[in-house]
Amino acid sequence: MMLPSVLLHDHLDGGLRPETCLDLANQHGYNDLPTNDAEELHAWFDQSASGSLEGYLESFDHTIGVMQQASAIERVAYEAGVDVASHGVVYAEFRFCPGLFTNRGLTLNEVIEAAASGFSKAGAETGLVWGIIVDAMRQLEDSMEMARVAISCRGLGVVGFDIAGPEQGFPPANHLAACRLVRESGLRLTLHAGEAGGKHGVAYMAQAMDMCGAERLGHGIEIINDCLVEDGNITKLGAVARRVRDRQIPLEVCPTSNMATGSLRPEEHPLGALHRAGFNVTLSTDNRLMSQTTMPAEFEFATTHHGITVDDLAIITRRSLAAAFCDHDVKQQLWHDRIRPAYTDAGATPGVLH
Ligand SMILES: [Zn+2]
Repeated sequence: MMLPSVLLHDHLDGGLRPETCLDLANQHGYNDLPTNDAEELHAWFDQSASGSLEGYLESFDHTIGVMQQASAIERVAYEAGVDVASHGVVYAEFRFCPGLFTNRGLTLNEVIEAAASGFSKAGAETGLVWGIIVDAMRQLEDSMEMARVAISCRGLGVVGFDIAGPEQGFPPANHLAACRLVRESGLRLTLHAGEAGGKHGVAYMAQAMDMCGAERLGHGIEIINDCLVEDGNITKLGAVARRVRDRQIPLEVCPTSNMATGSLRPEEHPLGALHRAGFNVTLSTDNRLMSQTTMPAEFEFATTHHGITVDDLAIITRRSLAAAFCDHDVKQQLWHDRIRPAYTDAGATPGVLH
C-alpha cells in the first residue's frame, strides 16, 4: 500500500530520469556523460555519489550540463512532478539554483518560467500541488541576485529560498543579507545546515536558525552531535539542540542521501533517535537520481531500520504539511481530501492539522 506524502526537499537537478539525461545530452550536443547506456548511467550516478558530499555534488555537473535550454528544464520539471506523484506525493517543493542553468543564454527568469511550466503541466495531469524553492549556492557570491529573482518570481510559484552546496567552510551567515531580504519580502526561508558541516555543523545550524531566521533546516542531522546518546536514545540536549527541539524547527531529513554522503550504516542514521526525542523530523528524497530513491523508499527505510510505525508516518506527514510553504487553505484541503483518509484507512490516527 502506498501512503500519501509531502515532499519538502527535492533538488530538480538531482532527480532526472537517466533516459532523459541521455536524450537531452544527444539533443543538445552534450558529450561529457560517462556512458551512453541508461542503465550504466543510473549505476554511475549511484556509485559516484557515495562517500562524501563533495563527490555527490560533482555528479551534478552532468545533470546541470544537460539542462541549459528552456525545453530541457521544462521536461525535467514535468517528469519530476509526474514521478513523485506516481509515488504518492500530493504536495512537493522542488528546489534549484537558477544561476546554474544560464550557461547557454537563458536568463534567471526564463529558467524559473521553464520549470514552473513543467510543474504546472504535471500538476494538471496528476493533481500534484507544487512550489518552487530558489537556491543560492553557498560557495558563490551571488546570493543577493538569487534572492531578488526569487522574490520577483513569486507569481510563478516560488514559495521559498534556500542556500545549498558544499557546507564546510561556507557558513550560512555569509549569506545573511540575502536571507534578510527574503524574510523582509515575506518569502519563506529554509537553509541547508547540519548536513555535512563536520565540526561546524552545530554552529552552522545555530547561525541558520538564530541569525538568518531559517524556518526549517535542510537535513539538520548533525544536531545529534549536540546531544548525548545512550543506547541509541537521546538522554541530554545541548543548547542548540534544545532550541531546535523546543521551537519544533522542522528538519528536512533525507536518509538515503545522508547515508551516501556520510558513509553511514542504516541503523546509525540519527532519525529514529531524533524522532523519539521529540524533534520535528520530516522525511524527503533530496536527490532521487543520485540516491536512487523515492518517498516510499524513505518511508520503508524509516520503518525497517528505525521502528517508525504507520502512526509515526501519519505524524511525519502532518508535520511536513504544516511546515510547507503553501497557503493554509491549500494545506487544509490536501489534509482533509487526500492525506487523512488514506492514513485512517491504513489504521493510523492521523490527528489534527493545525
Ligand atoms: Zn539538499
